[in-house]
Order: sequence, then C-alpha cells, then structure tokens
Amino acid sequence: MVGTMTAERSSSRPKKTFKDEVLAFVASGDAESLSAQEILTWGIKNFAPRIALSCSFGAPEGLVLLDMMHRIDPASRVFVLDTGRLPQATYDLIDRVRERYDKPVELVFPRAEDVAAMVQARGVNLFYESVENRQLCCRIRKVEPLRRHLAGLDAWVAGLRRDQGVTRNATPKLEIDAVNGGIVKLNPIADWTHERVADYVREHEVPTNRLHAQGYPSVGCDPCSRAVAAGEDERAGRWWWEQPETRECGIHVDEEDQGSGI
Ligand code: SF4
Repeated sequence: MVGTMTAERSSSRPKKTFKDEVLAFVASGDAESLSAQEILTWGIKNFAPRIALSCSFGAPEGLVLLDMMHRIDPASRVFVLDTGRLPQATYDLIDRVRERYDKPVELVFPRAEDVAAMVQARGVNLFYESVENRQLCCRIRKVEPLRRHLAGLDAWVAGLRRDQGVTRNATPKLEIDAVNGGIVKLNPIADWTHERVADYVREHEVPTNRLHAQGYPSVGCDPCSRAVAAGEDERAGRWWWEQPETRECGIHVDEEDQGSGI
C-alpha cells in the first residue's frame, strides 16, 4: 500500500536540547541584523561538525552558501538529496564542486524499496497526474531522506530567500525547526535579492548549474523543472502545472501546518 510508505512522523522524534544561550539567541530575533557570514560563523562555532548545508546544486543560493561556509571552515559539510531524477547538469556540477573545493559532497538517497513500490503502483511519471501523487513522490524521494539525514545533525543551513514566492515570504534568518526534531535551521540569505546572489557568484567565481543559462532560474528534478519566460516568478518553472500555493516539495514547510501531508 503506497500510502503506508511514509517516513515516521517527525513529531515523534526526541527534541534536541541546546545550551540556554543558543536558544535565547535564536528566540531573540537578533540574527535579523547580522550578515550571512556572521550567521554562518555563529552556526559553525556552536554546532560543527553537526551542522551541514543542504544544497540542491540547482540554484545559485546554495552554492553561494557553500562558498561562504568553505571560507569560514574548509571542513564545513554539504549534502544533496539525490532523488534519482536529477538532470545530468546537476550531477556534473556536483563533481565540479568536489574538485574546486576539494570537498566531499554527501549524497543522500531515498529508500529503494519505497521508490520501487511507488512507481510500480502509480507509474514512473506519477507526479503529472495529481498534486497528491506529486507530493507522494517528493515525500519519498526528498522529504524522508532529508528527515533521516537531519536526525544526525544539530543544525542545518538552507538557501531560502523571502522574495522567491508566496511560500517563502516570512522566512526568518534563524529558527528552531520543530518539524525536524527541534534542530536549529539557518537561513542566512533570507533577506538577499536575486541580484545580490548574482553579484556574489560573479565576484567569487562560484560554480553554478549550466541550465541557468538556458532559462532555468531553479533546477530541481528533471521532469519537474522547466525554463521560465522573462518576468515570470523565479519558481514558476517548478511543478508549473500546479497552483503557486502548492509548489513546495515539503522540505521547507511544516507538513501539519500545510494540512496536506506535504
Ligand atoms: Fe518526484 Fe518531481 Fe518531487 Fe522530484 S520534484 S521528487 S521527480 S515529484
């Protein structure tokens, strides 16, 4: 039964316990006035080696953060969710990054038995048929592997920006991630614009996904990403057949708040 192949509910996980000063700083909102580098330095100082960057290798934001973290601490960690449906350009970029920074990239895979049961029951391209199918595929290929990986960390870093669309406009720079066992989540460039990201990429010669030059501002899985027209929302090329409000994979949303099981 496909519907039973879900990850254990994260709310059943034991909550993390942190030093009072760490919790107080997160709760204070003082991080909002700090630079991205200052937030990353704070995170590495408090959590390394149990802090890692989640990088899709399909958007410049993650690569900017990878570059910043590497400059602060060459041993900083980065992982990517390898869904099995990523485009070749993304795999090529992963190898370029490994060489450029002499840094291992941790590849996180879905459970093979879950993928097999899903595609046998609903087809290999199930995501085009309904929001429910698309969310199931994201849950099995992305959300469950992410939850599993985060269970071994105390903090994670993401490249969300508030102006990326309606689902991200309230993103804080620092938060307790209640969905993932109460670990700390850092969104150091939440207040950056697309132009500021592009400036950083140019100034520091950060490697990025070659599909951006072909009109893809955001590259996800190959069957679920397309180029966008000039003036369209940056995330308009992701799951473009759905309404904007459902266009998240579940990685950055509270599944209960969404009321959709992701
Ligand atoms: Fe599946 Fe598409 Fe989600 Fe990738 S983006 S996990 S292929 S539904």
